[in-house]
Amino acid sequence: ARILICAGTGCVANGSLKIFEALKEEVAKQGTFVTVEMMLDGCSGTSVVKSGCHGFCEMGPLVRIEPSGVLYTKVKVEDATAIVSALVNNEEPVKHLLYHHPLTGEVYAEEGNIPFYKNQNRNVLGHCGVIDPEEIREYIAGGGYQALAKALTESSPEAVCKEVIESGLRGRGGGGFPTGRKWDATRISPGSQKYVVCNGDEGDPGAFMDRSVMEGDPHKVIEGMAIAGYAVGASEGYIYVRAEYPLAVHRLKVAVQAARELGLLGSNILGTGFAFDLKIKEGAGAFVCGEETALMASIEGKRGMPCPKPPFPAQSGLWGKPTLINNVETFANVPQIISRGAAWFRSRGTEKSPGTKTFALTGQVANTGLIEVPMGITLREIVFEIGGGLRDGKEFKAVQIGGPSGGCLTEEHLDMKLDFDSLLSVGAMIGSGGLVVTAKDTCMVEFARYFMNFTQNESCGKCVPCREGTKRLLEMLQRAVDGEGRPEDVEILEDLANAVKDASLCGLGKTAPNPVLTMLKYFKDEYLAHVVDKR
Ligand code: SF4
Repeated sequence: ARILICAGTGCVANGSLKIFEALKEEVAKQGTFVTVEMMLDGCSGTSVVKSGCHGFCEMGPLVRIEPSGVLYTKVKVEDATAIVSALVNNEEPVKHLLYHHPLTGEVYAEEGNIPFYKNQNRNVLGHCGVIDPEEIREYIAGGGYQALAKALTESSPEAVCKEVIESGLRGRGGGGFPTGRKWDATRISPGSQKYVVCNGDEGDPGAFMDRSVMEGDPHKVIEGMAIAGYAVGASEGYIYVRAEYPLAVHRLKVAVQAARELGLLGSNILGTGFAFDLKIKEGAGAFVCGEETALMASIEGKRGMPCPKPPFPAQSGLWGKPTLINNVETFANVPQIISRGAAWFRSRGTEKSPGTKTFALTGQVANTGLIEVPMGITLREIVFEIGGGLRDGKEFKAVQIGGPSGGCLTEEHLDMKLDFDSLLSVGAMIGSGGLVVTAKDTCMVEFARYFMNFTQNESCGKCVPCREGTKRLLEMLQRAVDGEGRPEDVEILEDLANAVKDASLCGLGKTAPNPVLTMLKYFKDEYLAHVVDKR
C-alpha cells in the first residue's frame, strides 16, 4: 500500500511535511515501512510518499491511500496513528477525516467519487498527487519518457510538428495561438543554433496551475521540451520560473539532474545522437516578464521589457536566434499527444479548442482548488458541480476569468461553453486560467479597481498608453470606490480603457482594461451608484 501526502506549496504551508514524518513513524511502528525505491524494486509493505498537489487545496493537508483511493482531508499530525491503524488493520476509513459535502452533508470516502474530482478530466495533472515528483523512476514506471523515445526513433522532426498541428493544441498561456504552427515556424527558420523556452512566469493573482505542474510533475514538462527541441532543431532550452516558486525551482532542478543521469537530457539522448539540455532561469517576479519578448530579454540578463513584434521569436528570439516559447501547460500536453496521437487529443474538448484546460478555482466558491476539465465545459458545471456552489449559501454574481487580463462572466454566461473563441466573443479570455468566483455582495467596482491596481503596478512604463493610461484609469476607479466618483468619469473611463487597449505595445497593456470594460458592460449601474451615492 501507499500513503500519499500532498507536498504542494499549499499543503506544505499547512504543515504536511510534519504529517509526512508522523505517518512514516506510525507505519514503522504498526506495519512494515518500505521506501519508494524498495517498493519500485518489488518489496512489499507500506510506503509513505510526498506527492505533488492533489488540487483540492481548500481541504488540505490531504492524504490519499492507495490502492483503495480513500482521501483524508484537513489532516493533522495527531491523525497519523488512526490513519495508519485503519490501513494496516483493514478497518473502515477514519470517518471524521473524510470529505463532507458542505451543502448536502454527504460523506465521501474515495477521492474518485467526490464531485470535485468526479467531474474532472485529469491529463496534464494526471500524475500530480499520484507520483513522487522527485523520483524519476516513478515517472518512468507510469510511461514517462516513452513519447520522447518514440519521437526520436520513429518520427522525423517534421512529422512531430505535423502531429502537434493535427492535435489542434493551442497555447495554454493565454493567447491560444496554435502550438504546432509555432513549432513548424521555428523548425523551418534558418539557423544552426535554436532555443526552446518554457514560460513558467505565472504571475496572475489567484493562478497557480503552472506552479502545481512544475512541482507535481516536472518530468512531463522536461519531456515536452525535449520533444520540442527535437522537432524544431534546438539543442538548448531554458525554463523561466519565478523565484517566488522555490519548491517548483527545487523540483525542476532535481528532475533535470535525474534526467541527465539517465541519458534523457544531454549530448546523446537515448543513444540516438540527439543533443538537448536545459537550464533553469529564476525570474525576479515582474509580471511583464510573462510577455515573451520581455522574458527573453530577462534571460539575456537585460531589463525585462517587451519589444515590438515582428520579428517573432520563431525568427529572432533569444540572442537573435530562432526560439520556440511555450508555457508550462502547453509543454505538459505534448508527451501524451506524441504517445497517444493527435486523434486521442482531439477526442475531448471542442473542435477549435481541443483537449483539456487547468483552472485555479478560487473566490467565494465552496470547493476551491486546482482543476482540469475538457475545453467546452460550461461555467455552471465548474462553479456548481466541481466547485460545489457558493459558500455560506450565497448567491452567484460573476466570475473573473483570466486574471487581470481577463474579464467578467455573469449569470447570462453560465451555460456558455468555455473555450478560446467563445470567451473572446464576449470580451473575456481564458488567460492562463484563473477563475475567481464572486457572490452577490461583491462590489464589482472595487473588484475592477483591484485588478487595475495590479496591472498599474506591473506596467513596465515603456509605452505611454499603458504607463499613463492605467494610472488614470486607476485614479477614476479609486475615486468611485471612495464614493467621490464624478458623472463625467463614466464616459472618460470607457474611452480611455479602449484607447489603452488599442494603443499599448504589449499584451499587458492591451488586456489591462478588460476588467474595467467588462465591469462597465455588465455592472454599469453599480458604477453609477458609486457616483451618485455621495453627491
Ligand atoms: Fe510596458 Fe505596459 Fe507598454 Fe507593455 S503595454 S510595454 S507593460 S508600458
